[in-house]
Amino acid sequence: MSEQDLMKNDGGVADANVTHGEVQTDVAIVGGGMAGASLALLLSHHCRALRVCLLERHGLPESSASLQLPSFDTRATAIAAGSLRIFETLGLWSQLREFAAPIRRVQVSDRGHSLGASLDAAIDGAASVNGMLGAVIENAALGPLLYRALEQTSVEVVAPAEVSSVQMTAAGAVLNWRSEPGAAAQTLRTRLLVVADGVASPLCRQLGIGVSEVDYHQHALVTTVGLQRDHNGVAFERFTENGPMALLPLPRRDGTHRAALVWTCDGEERERLASLPEAEFVRHLQQVFGWRAGRILRAGQLQGYPLKLSVAREQVRRGLALVGNCAHFLHPVAGQGFNLTLRDCDVLARTIARAVTREEAENRSDCGQSSPGELDLLQAYWRDRQHDQQLTIGFSDRIPPLFSSRNLLLSALRQAGLLGLTLVPSLRSGFARQAAGLAL
Ligand SMILES: Cc1cc2nc3c(=O)[nH]c(=O)nc-3n(C[C@H](O)[C@H](O)[C@H](O)COP(=O)(O)OP(=O)(O)OC[C@H]3O[C@@H](n4cnc5c(N)ncnc54)[C@H](O)[C@@H]3O)c2cc1C
Repeated sequence: MSEQDLMKNDGGVADANVTHGEVQTDVAIVGGGMAGASLALLLSHHCRALRVCLLERHGLPESSASLQLPSFDTRATAIAAGSLRIFETLGLWSQLREFAAPIRRVQVSDRGHSLGASLDAAIDGAASVNGMLGAVIENAALGPLLYRALEQTSVEVVAPAEVSSVQMTAAGAVLNWRSEPGAAAQTLRTRLLVVADGVASPLCRQLGIGVSEVDYHQHALVTTVGLQRDHNGVAFERFTENGPMALLPLPRRDGTHRAALVWTCDGEERERLASLPEAEFVRHLQQVFGWRAGRILRAGQLQGYPLKLSVAREQVRRGLALVGNCAHFLHPVAGQGFNLTLRDCDVLARTIARAVTREEAENRSDCGQSSPGELDLLQAYWRDRQHDQQLTIGFSDRIPPLFSSRNLLLSALRQAGLLGLTLVPSLRSGFARQAAGLAL
């Protein structure tokens, strides 16, 4: 939708957004991936009065079922119990569960060692919601669900809209965007700019926000595999000398038992695995993974993702917040990236809503005077999130090297760690609650 369209729109949100001939909104979110779309839904849920505009570079097809956004590719996402609660609050869980496979048990094993550990929804009740430790949903199914839910809100989704530059102002931010290369530049003024444009964010660079990075020199190879028998809701984490791998339960399709594979390896191994014919790849996978999920029958096309840890050095400024991969991009081994982002988005939306509700109680009808971009408010959000972020980022950064090392001392340590998880109830429940996003 162009700026003119926004301004023409009679009686709707856009009309209220026009001040002095420029489009004005309360919150502009740049990037409509998993982070941006989720935040838009949470803002609209917690604060209906807020004018929210979501700008996404890629166009949205007529039917949201065929979304071509990077977030909603062939990966699957393990959604922790804490995130299920957030989706429940949004009223989305009943739709999500149709496409998701519940995780009832997580089984951790270390290749070459017999000792393993497991978390079980029936035993580790404190880490589960509705008898599940979490659920797995294919990103290609999650995207359309989020966008269909957005259609039921007053969020203004503007796509295709590529934001090319941003200027921070005393009142918030001014964005320049185009619907396509060569099209006229449009302007949007906002009280709060939320950058959700993914890892290696050009907008953050433009704003002078640096990142701390650790290159893992590893890749995640992702595909869907067909299994001979039912996975019974078990998610497998297996640590090998080349890196961790995960096999996550997926719902059956056309009678086929399926699971999502995430296999981390170095660049050389990635090339080798990607060049194998399917039957050989499956044979090799079976050999490395073992038989704990039964016979692996087939594998789909492999997609590779380079892995690094990237954490923005600032996540809030006056009029500005960062969410999703541009704030923190994690190793996917423990399936924490989106779950951490969803918790960030939930707290950000609630913090803004609290400020707005206070204003309403003081008889102001909109988000008028105190802006969602106020520094105090954004710093309060950041203080709230720091602890969880540090724990989760530390956890996903330290586990992979520990578990892929051939060093004997580290090997003894991780076996002791697995033993501790098996035998010490408080350690086990603390670990489970953190992994499930229910620790806070
Ligand atoms: C292999 C792998 C497996 C994973 N598995 C899990 C898991 O099981 N559980 C879990 O919790 N997390 C998992 N994650 C993490 C999860 O995928 C990320 O948290 C999620 O993708 C965050 O997406 P995002 O919206 O921040 O970024 P992106 O998906 O990159 O979205 C950014 C969006 O911004 C748009 N954009 C960019 N620039 C502009 C611009 N200038 N103007 C307008 N729009 C713009 C892009 O088009 C895109 O749609 C995994 C990650 C990987 C790599």
